[in-house]
Amino acid sequence: MSIYEEFGVQPIINGVGPATRLGGTIMDDEVLAAMADAARHYVKIDELQDAAGRFIGELTGAESGYVTSGAAAGLALSAAACMTGLDPVRINQLPNPAGMKHEILIHRTHRYDYDHAYRSVGATLVEFGFPDAVHPYALESAIGERTAAVAYYPTPSRVALPLPVVVEIAHRYDLAVIVDAALEVPPIANLRTFIEQGADLVVFSGGKAFRGPQASGFVCGRADLIRAIGFHHQDMDVHPETWTYRDMIEEGQITGPPHHGIGRQMKVGKEEIIGLLVALRRYFAQDRDKEHADWTWRCTAIAENLQGLPGVEVEIVDGFSRAGAVPSVLISLDEASLGKTAFDVLRALQDGEPRIFLNEERAWKGQIGISPMELGDEDLPVIATRIRSLLEVGE
Ligand SMILES: *Cc1c(COP(=O)(O)O)cnc(C)c1O
Repeated sequence: MSIYEEFGVQPIINGVGPATRLGGTIMDDEVLAAMADAARHYVKIDELQDAAGRFIGELTGAESGYVTSGAAAGLALSAAACMTGLDPVRINQLPNPAGMKHEILIHRTHRYDYDHAYRSVGATLVEFGFPDAVHPYALESAIGERTAAVAYYPTPSRVALPLPVVVEIAHRYDLAVIVDAALEVPPIANLRTFIEQGADLVVFSGGKAFRGPQASGFVCGRADLIRAIGFHHQDMDVHPETWTYRDMIEEGQITGPPHHGIGRQMKVGKEEIIGLLVALRRYFAQDRDKEHADWTWRCTAIAENLQGLPGVEVEIVDGFSRAGAVPSVLISLDEASLGKTAFDVLRALQDGEPRIFLNEERAWKGQIGISPMELGDEDLPVIATRIRSLLEVGE
């Protein structure tokens, strides 16, 4: 019996992977213990964020870093930082962007559900390129007086200029490039790749592969922009005389302290900050090859149990959403001969006992995916048995 049942909610089996709507990921005991310890002490949040920034900077090769309440919050704060810099008047003014650079350029192919995060702080997205072809001049000609930054979504499945080309053009016009890398780890090398390629701000999710708190993420990148993110995010309830960054006023770097910024409602707690840092430290200390081998083993255990069903093809693919990163089981149904669709099967699994959730990205073409990332060994026979019983002829 879990704490959820005490409140009348039934836990589920998650074969989708670290999806926010299904509870993200499960944290390891070391992370949970660190969060419990963090919850027992008071700490100055800006000092904790500065320490987190140094730690994240070392891991990623960036100048600095900042912990957010998720990657989506990181995108919103990054957009805000690029629009205002350290100017307290502009910071106070958002989401009204009147009089400031507020256009964020984005490949037409990079439009997606998460671009709402950029728009939420008052930015306007300006698209460039065609769905099937993008030339460097498309980006260059889109740059204008009001351009604040360029947004980039480094998923290999979409037609886009390579990131180094985008960076070269953007930097020629003194523009920052924001990269949404929320889903780009694994592979672990991507923690540094986009910074190495010159991106100014790179955003990651903490509650996915890193197995950190579900409501955590981080931004790494240029120190001045990270400081602006901190200003947008801070809880500014003190007088300038006692403000942590009052030296910046005396040194003329900033005209005065901003009030609460657009990020104040994206609060992140001390427990999440510590949880994320410990999760990141663990991620680096662990054997990533073993993790990949475990994932493959789990996929094989399910796939072997599903062989020999008429009208059903089962294979292990090298990444369901993204090649090379996480092996997945791919089940292709001959919907006509089976007399049921992938959606029928998904619904039956969700409504059964225990409730099982699988990847529905390609259900429209009769395919179901299973990610091994959030499955325990005990889940594997349960999933296979339930799918078998739903797909066996005559059922
Ligand atoms: C998950 C995801 C996000 C949002 O991450 P959160 O940490 O849940 O806020 C943003 N962008 C992409 C591409 C994602 O996959």
